[in-house]
Amino acid sequence: TKPLIEVKNLKKYFPIKKGIFSQTVNYVKAVDGLDFNIYRGETLGLVGESGCGKSTTGRTLLQLLEPTEGEVLYEGKNLVGMNPTELRKLRRDLQIIFQDPYASLDPRLTVGDIIAEPLKIHRLAHGKEVDRQVEELLNVVGLSSYHAKRYAHEFSGGQRQRIGIARALALKPKLIVADEPVSALDVSIQSQVINLLQDLQEQFQLTYLFIAHDLSVVKHISDRIGVMYLGRIVELSDKNELFNNPKHPYTKALLSAVPVPNPLIKKERIVLQGDVPSPANPPSGCTFHPRCSECMAICKTEKPALKEVDGQLVACHLYN
Ligand code: SF4
Ligand code: MG
Repeated sequence: TKPLIEVKNLKKYFPIKKGIFSQTVNYVKAVDGLDFNIYRGETLGLVGESGCGKSTTGRTLLQLLEPTEGEVLYEGKNLVGMNPTELRKLRRDLQIIFQDPYASLDPRLTVGDIIAEPLKIHRLAHGKEVDRQVEELLNVVGLSSYHAKRYAHEFSGGQRQRIGIARALALKPKLIVADEPVSALDVSIQSQVINLLQDLQEQFQLTYLFIAHDLSVVKHISDRIGVMYLGRIVELSDKNELFNNPKHPYTKALLSAVPVPNPLIKKERIVLQGDVPSPANPPSGCTFHPRCSECMAICKTEKPALKEVDGQLVACHLYN
């Protein structure tokens, strides 16, 4: 099957001045050459520690941030450098849900107005039809029409995330980038929101890019999972393969931190040495090498390419 989204050599660098009087510009390579596809109807999980470039990947993919380099093909059409009118039309199909349901909802608008806004901007409905669609969207996310007259601050975190989801659904999108949609929520509420997203995926044939810093969050919802480290994907596998047979040393370390449901299975916790290095000054070769317990001489000089190993993708010199 043809992918819905094809990301090719995607890069996003942010310039930073080295000092106030310095003329030299350094770059934070937040996203440093990504290649991956997202297939229709699937959930691709994207996981990594904070600062690894996950959110920047989501935003750059949607052209909310302009890529420094690379292509993003949506149904074969390159979104990068597309003229604004054409991009605006395609944008409807590509929506985002944010991490912080508190910050992403305008406090001056009623919930009804928040959900109606995209319908009005894109002139998809007028008058009574707007109210009807808002009511339908509220029902779809498990809220009711009487919530439409209230303000976002009157709702709990989980309900606010439902409102954010309703707003994203208003334009009948094909792809939703969910940027840590449950990270700000109580653990007890997280699975409710994830279950809702799963139900909606089935009901509306949605495709998800689901971003999280925790493998346990993406475990149930993902079909495939990509693991990011310092702006690059180091492993991209089928979910079960990733959990049962992780290849990259970083994936193994992340997995060792995921609690096992069966207490009889003893797991050795792999403690990563040191902190995540700054993306403004990444280590040479394999950027994971200063923290890798299996580091070899070649790892310090040569950047490993992402390539196929037993049907999965991994970027590590151990598999040469
Ligand atoms: Fe470790 Fe080398 Fe593999 Fe990097 S390439 S993860 S340093 S073994
Ligand atoms: Mg983030």
